[in-house]
Amino acid sequence: MPEEAPMKDVVCEKSRKALQFVEDVTCNADEVQRKVLAEILSRNANVEYLQRYGLDGNKADRETFKKVMPIVSYEDLKPDIERISNGDTSQILCSQPISEFLTSSGTSAGERKLMPTIEEELGRRSLLYSLLMPVMNQFVPGLDRGKGMYFLFIKSEAKTPGGLLARPVLTSYYKSSYFRERPYDPYTNYTSPNETILCQDSYQSMYSQLLCGLCQNHDVLRVGAVFASGFIRAIKFLEKHWILLCNDIRNGKIDSKISDPSVREAVLKILKPNQKLADFIEAECSRESWKGIITRLWPNTKYIDVIVTGTMSQYIPTLDYYSNGLPLVCTMYASSECYFGLNLNPLSKPSEVSYTLVPTMAYFEFLPVNRTAPTPLGQKTDLQELVDLVDVKLGEEYELVVTTYAGLYRYRVGDILRVAGFKNKAPQFNFVCRKNVVLSIDADKTDEVELQNAVQNAAKHLLPFGASLTEYTSYADTSKIPGHYVLFWEICLSGSAPIHPSVFEDCCLAIEESLNSVYRQGRVSDKSIGPLEIRITEKGTFDRLMDFALSQGASINQYKAPRCVKYAPIIELLNSRVVSSYFSPKCPKWVPGHKQWCTPN
Ligand code: AMP
Repeated sequence: MPEEAPMKDVVCEKSRKALQFVEDVTCNADEVQRKVLAEILSRNANVEYLQRYGLDGNKADRETFKKVMPIVSYEDLKPDIERISNGDTSQILCSQPISEFLTSSGTSAGERKLMPTIEEELGRRSLLYSLLMPVMNQFVPGLDRGKGMYFLFIKSEAKTPGGLLARPVLTSYYKSSYFRERPYDPYTNYTSPNETILCQDSYQSMYSQLLCGLCQNHDVLRVGAVFASGFIRAIKFLEKHWILLCNDIRNGKIDSKISDPSVREAVLKILKPNQKLADFIEAECSRESWKGIITRLWPNTKYIDVIVTGTMSQYIPTLDYYSNGLPLVCTMYASSECYFGLNLNPLSKPSEVSYTLVPTMAYFEFLPVNRTAPTPLGQKTDLQELVDLVDVKLGEEYELVVTTYAGLYRYRVGDILRVAGFKNKAPQFNFVCRKNVVLSIDADKTDEVELQNAVQNAAKHLLPFGASLTEYTSYADTSKIPGHYVLFWEICLSGSAPIHPSVFEDCCLAIEESLNSVYRQGRVSDKSIGPLEIRITEKGTFDRLMDFALSQGASINQYKAPRCVKYAPIIELLNSRVVSSYFSPKCPKWVPGHKQWCTPN
């Protein structure tokens, strides 16, 4: 263990530099952005993609870039990405070798999107992480005197036919030396040993992380996970397994189900027989109410570090319940394509959280969102319409477009952001929503078209029984953990014979089988999504839904049944007219990687 005083100095100096960096890059946001784009274009002057649009070394300036480069989405890049994934190592998108693919939770044709990345991007991600605690420390001092209990996990990886790894960005980061070999720093001092985070088996990983968190309960000053859903899953796991965990603490022995030798070894360095602690945890967990369980078991916790912006806001009431209203802190905004930015005012209320994009991470542009007259599908967006980082207007909404060091040029991320303010010259954005996503429980993002196709496939099961689907809508029910998708179906029966429940159960499973691979992984591997449910409603329910919408001012000419509902009175109306409900009887099929790849051993 390093000596106290010099370590403190080192940490102070690191923090000071981090805050100065934020100050510098936000004051000079436009200059930094110009430099970033120039660097990306000059480095990649010889890549096929840029040359295709006539952007070679000589003409690689911002003005030409803005004139000639198309704004693209994943489908446009798919042929290039497929070439890389099949083993073409020529400079297609980037002059540096593609080190791996990051599998985004966004999907294309039901499969995860593959985002190319390069080795040096790990450094950029690491830089963004290094800014978080210096910022936090300005608002909550003393965090260097204890630990963070973070539930962090890796997920399965696959190999593309060309031999590149394909895995989620966090799996890539936790397995990298940036995370595994991080130098001792009180701000990255976690209760979970690396071995427990890097354990592929999700049960063993969760169990051992909770065990270590409980053993060090008085050291814990902050708790968290990446997304709110992941943190709540840990609490639910505790609800189910606290007796076993207490036994382990009482005896100083780890349960035999934890069979991974490196996990056992790491945990045994922390776990010592502690009768008093075991009795205390047992007493708290066996109380009828789990209200405030976080502050009861980890009494020195100052805040919960989880993302609760976007669809994750649905978990705020549950987190408030378990924590007795501890501050919920959203620290950063990132994706597989690129890490974007951080929250410089981390104690702000979830509804007011804004993220400052860090101008060194990528070249950012913004497509104005016109909600009343959106650009019709298929119509080309005017290339000049894109706004630069420093030119966005307060209160306006934009779709984020990025040009990255790893080979994405004017790529539409799919997120809608609203300008909430400025830090020096750099805008700060509220996360408004993900374009088109209707349902989400955890990392899954199901859009309207995917849902429509899945429902259509499933409804075919009704036809042999003289029934057909007339209307449907959906919602993400997160009142229980794990949450699950609920579909309200109104059906038309031509015969008089009742339909056997197994037919509807088949429909539930058929929908799940048709949904994208991120959904199916959530069901099968992560168990973060519960079985899908179909609720059959009385005849006329969707007419009532329309009446309700009209009473709220909708136009009768334009009315369409919404394919997803979120407004509580509408959900109540639908629920009040449910005649029967059915759940998916088993998990859908899922294997790591893309359907057409063979899985690695
Ligand atoms: P992925 O590519 O799977 O890592 O997902 C990235 C997406 O997650 C982003 O494009 C956002 O839609 C969403 N996301 C990431 N960070 C946040 C945040 N802080 N608040 C809301 N949504 C977020």
